[in-house]
Amino acid sequence: MKVAALIVAAGRGSRFGGVLPKQYQTLHGRPVLRHSLATFHAHPRVRSVLTVIHPDDQALYEAAAAGLPVLSPVFGGAERQDSVRLGLEALVDQGFDAVLIHDGARPFVSWEVIDRVITALETTSGAIPAVPVSDTLKRAGLHGVVEGTVPRAGLWRAQTPQGFRLKEIVQAHQACRGQVLTDDAAVAESVGMSVALVPGEERNLKMTHAPDLAAVPPPSLVPCVGSGFDVHGFCAGDFITLCGKKIPHDFALKGHSDADVALHALTDALYGVMAAGDIGRFFPPSEARWKGCPSHVFLNHAKTLLEALGGVLVNVDLTIICEAPKIGPHRAAMAEHLADLLHLSRQRVSVKATTTETLGFTGRREGIAVQAQVLAMMPDLS
Ligand code: MG
Repeated sequence: MKVAALIVAAGRGSRFGGVLPKQYQTLHGRPVLRHSLATFHAHPRVRSVLTVIHPDDQALYEAAAAGLPVLSPVFGGAERQDSVRLGLEALVDQGFDAVLIHDGARPFVSWEVIDRVITALETTSGAIPAVPVSDTLKRAGLHGVVEGTVPRAGLWRAQTPQGFRLKEIVQAHQACRGQVLTDDAAVAESVGMSVALVPGEERNLKMTHAPDLAAVPPPSLVPCVGSGFDVHGFCAGDFITLCGKKIPHDFALKGHSDADVALHALTDALYGVMAAGDIGRFFPPSEARWKGCPSHVFLNHAKTLLEALGGVLVNVDLTIICEAPKIGPHRAAMAEHLADLLHLSRQRVSVKATTTETLGFTGRREGIAVQAQVLAMMPDLS
């Protein structure tokens, strides 16, 4: 199932106060919207992310999405419902089967909730996360006096992302134009789509009032490791690119991009820290635009995504495995270049080399293999 995420961030946030709309205010050092963009962009079951924004917020959006290759945003309409419909219409002919519609002001959505919604969509046309109402509900009468108690049995608080089969929800939104409905599930219900409830999470809060942001303490960080491995074979040529440095050799390395086998292994190690998949997921070799691409583009993407998720890179360690060329004379320059690319201290970047004692494909001088390990501090999600 090809799944897109549609982040709704066109609101003015009149309840929120402050000069900036709430989705662009800063939470733990980055815009509220960037939290959700990164969470959906990194999720391996989400193919693309599209955001609906207010036309006045273009610059704020560019800053919030910087370095994350999501789809170009679309402008919203007068009401939330119009904004969602415009976003859905922009997605409908792009080959997606399902869409997850998410509030840009819910920065704490977890992969567990996203997975439950996607999994439910395999058997239903709509699914929303929700939590049971635990407080007693009162109906207020005149002058703030209680008029009655509302039975809470069977009542749930709806959250987002709300997931739907794309074609059905587009038609539902088009059919409901002009009606005022408060969420997308209500739009789906109104045309008779079945909408399943899956467990939401209390922490999947919507930032509605200014104090909400200040009240959320930053998460503690936990160490996470990632590993990467890559191999490229030699072909005719007179230099190779390793760790972004050009090294003279009797051969070149074969590959779709610049074939920098060291940066590929390192980039995969960074994706490994985030459980975000691998380099081929974000930069498919089937796409012509990555032909000859310098591999620091891939590394930058992985590092940017890691930081957008609230992570901090600690150190990297590479082992280059080959008989030739000799790595020793280039080691320091490669490590310095990596430290620059990653904004790490030179003491947190290790480049080592070894041979396989003439055994195997590297021993036969058929190519180069690289192993990479990284450590990063990532938000504690437990
Ligand atoms: Mg490669």
